[in-house]
Parts: sequence; C-alpha cells; structure tokens
Amino acid sequence: MVSRGAEVPVDLQKLAESLGVTEILLTELVEDGRTTWIDGRPKIELRADRPAARMRFTLAHEIAHVLVAQDQTVARRTQGLDHDALEMLCDWIAASLLMPRDWMQRFANRNSYNLSLLRLIANHADVSLSAAAVRLAEVGGRTCMLLRFQRAPERWVVVGHAGVPREYIGALEATAETSLLLDGLASRRDVWQDLTLRSRGSILLANAHLDKSGQTCIALITSLIEDATL
Ligand SMILES: [Zn+2]
Repeated sequence: MVSRGAEVPVDLQKLAESLGVTEILLTELVEDGRTTWIDGRPKIELRADRPAARMRFTLAHEIAHVLVAQDQTVARRTQGLDHDALEMLCDWIAASLLMPRDWMQRFANRNSYNLSLLRLIANHADVSLSAAAVRLAEVGGRTCMLLRFQRAPERWVVVGHAGVPREYIGALEATAETSLLLDGLASRRDVWQDLTLRSRGSILLANAHLDKSGQTCIALITSLIEDATL
C-alpha cells in the first residue's frame, strides 16, 4: 500500500510492479479495464481509447482488485460482496491510492471549495476533475459534486455527474430557470451562481461555481438543499 507521505502523483506502474502485476496492456475492450490471473499472477488490460485521466483511474481500480485478491484477510472478508459493492470498494481504494488522505487533508481543510482548488488537485494528482471532486467530498465530509451540462436543442441537460448523493444519482435535471441562466452566462471562467435543479418531484437549491465553455458548462456544487417553500 502507499505509505504515509506518498509522492503525488503516485507512480502506478511501480506500484503495480511491486504487487507482481506481470504486464499492463492497452487493448480493445468493451469495459474500461480488466484483471486476469495467469498462473497466479495478475495481468491488467486497459481500454486504449479512453481519456488519459480515466485510464489512470481505471489502472488504480484494477490495482485495487489485485490488492483485495492478494491479501487473504481482505479477500476472505470481501468474498460475500456482490459485484457492485466490490466495484465501489475498488473505486474507493483507487481514489485513496491516487489521492492519499494525508495529502488531501490540506485541501479538504480549506474554508471553501471552488473550481480552482479542484483543478489544482486534479493537476497535482493527475486525475480527472470528477475524481478530485468525489475524493474532496469524502475527505472533507462536505458537499462537493460536479455536474456537467450540455446545451441540447431544447434546453441544458445534465450529461455527467460525480460526487452526487445516492438519492439524486441519475435524477438531477436543470430547471427552466437554470437553463435560461446558463444561456445568459458569458463563456468565461468561474462564476458563482445560485441554481435550481429538479430531482423527480423536488426542487433543489444549489450554490454552484460555474465554468461555461460554449455549449458545455461544468458546475461545482458546494451546497444542495431541498426547497422547503414548495
Ligand atoms: Zn472492477
């Protein structure tokens, strides 16, 4: 495992080697990554056409599978986990490998989170903004979610999300007001706005740091509350 004071960005190749991974291959895969065991030794394959930061996270995730399988105690204790739970565990281990807690803590302790902070973490740790947001939310114990909006013919739609509380996953939409607001926003970096989002029957109030670029906009949301006035 990565020790205290681990160097960031973490050298995943070296870590994989130290765990006995025989090779890391970039191949054509349907899934993002896969670990196969040949004569008891792991080989990792990564889907070659994914963005670099994504591939790096997938490599860390596959290394997590190796760690879980190699440690007999962990392997025994995770035996009963269903597929999704094991995948979640490996995502969590991957984030911990790439952004070790003692390294993250100084960022997580900041009074407020914004897009500059997220870019700083992503650049240092060589991860995506989404991965940085999820880890920041976890280590900081605060709301920190990233939504990616895209302008569709009718309105702005949510096309990507990270760090979203479980109850809202797949359910968040821009309201008509938010769509208008995003239309009116100049393409420039980083502006704070209060937004409304819809989740099934509820309206949510969000404080968001926005970066619009043409037909797409990313939003770092640092507070999300249900509108009780409705
Ligand atoms: Zn997996």
